Amino acid sequence: MNELWHVYLSAWPTVWARETTRYVVAATLMATILTLFWRAGLARRKLQPRDPVHGQWRREFLASLRTAFIFSLLGAVVAVGDHQGWITIYKDFRQAGPLYLVLSLALMLVVHDTYFYWAHRTRHHRRLFALFHRTHHLSRTPTPWAAYAFAIPEAVVHGAFVPLFLLVVPMHGLGLLAFGIVQILRNVMGHAGTEVHPAAFGPGRWLGWNNTTTHHDLHHEAGRYNYGLYFRWWDKLMGTEHPDYPRKFEAIVLPASGTTAPAGADRLLARALAYVMAGGLLLSADPVHAQEGPVGRWVTPGAAAVVEILPCTGTAGLCGTVRWLWDGMDDKGRPRLDIQNADASQRARPLVGLSILSGLTRAANGGWEGRIYNPEDGQTYRAILRRPTADTLTIEGCVLFICQKQVWRSAGSLAAALQ
Ligand SMILES: [Zn+2]
Ligand SMILES: [Zn+2]
Repeated sequence: MNELWHVYLSAWPTVWARETTRYVVAATLMATILTLFWRAGLARRKLQPRDPVHGQWRREFLASLRTAFIFSLLGAVVAVGDHQGWITIYKDFRQAGPLYLVLSLALMLVVHDTYFYWAHRTRHHRRLFALFHRTHHLSRTPTPWAAYAFAIPEAVVHGAFVPLFLLVVPMHGLGLLAFGIVQILRNVMGHAGTEVHPAAFGPGRWLGWNNTTTHHDLHHEAGRYNYGLYFRWWDKLMGTEHPDYPRKFEAIVLPASGTTAPAGADRLLARALAYVMAGGLLLSADPVHAQEGPVGRWVTPGAAAVVEILPCTGTAGLCGTVRWLWDGMDDKGRPRLDIQNADASQRARPLVGLSILSGLTRAANGGWEGRIYNPEDGQTYRAILRRPTADTLTIEGCVLFICQKQVWRSAGSLAAALQ
């Protein structure tokens, strides 16, 4: 139990930073694009004559920060599920390949759209609306800052999607990252208040199966229509699409007769969207996976032992515990004990469960430095750990059974080989 809390608490700060940064960066980019391209053509794409009310963006911003916090509380559960093996976030491409990556991402978006449509339509039920959804609809003329402007119960419903989906479908870390970027970009675009999609997104055109800003803006304006998130499928199928949607989109993106500016505006918008995508990709990059430390389960040479490295209990730094030994039992079938320990009172401790790495902290040279206990001779040594690749950990010093530099392999790579 204690261990699960440690996994949860050590994952949470990164998840929180990621959720918050993702929102702030995407909403800022969208707001910047609106400002930069306003005179170049966006002004005539404004969807409602009324303006956002004074101070609205501040309310949307604060509610969105609260939502990012709730998302992080739910998102850190994913780290626990991954650690426990309840869900699979695989790290090695060889396990499934690029086709699976693309298909699993597409599936995740389609399932998310379905989850969103039905949960959203349910929130509009008169008995549920006040508790779940009124906060979001306080914005009649939404701004990009409204992307996460939800009441707490609604934020919980949204935030539960990723953990629930991962219970069923294994995803690569990159697929999850791409999902997070697509989700927030489509979200801020939907709330831009000004049509930012190129004309190709128009109903009947090649990207017409997608939602647009006009589509979701009509939902904020009229309420009873357009519950979908990314796609129009469910609204079309269930007859909940605003009857005026196709006409309104065409009217807003097509150049008015006698003007020349908007043809260029479309090209400018396409370019701006490309910048947003690139910016989102750069800034939403996952810092945990980019520079993962030695946290994880590791297999020592010859598969002699499995050692798990986690944040220490009660003290700073990382600690490592023996989780499994190839030769864990003696001839009589009893667990092997720490019989070489210099301290006689410690000799009855079983080797499995023994903490052998302690106080690992980041060293100036980019590695991790701490102490390692060698049950072979009962001595404790200084150890330097490095993680040159996602799959390998090098340990310099005296380790488990040999005194030298060793390469430990991630337990995930061994598990993959055994399948
Ligand atoms: Zn709604
Ligand atoms: Zn909305």
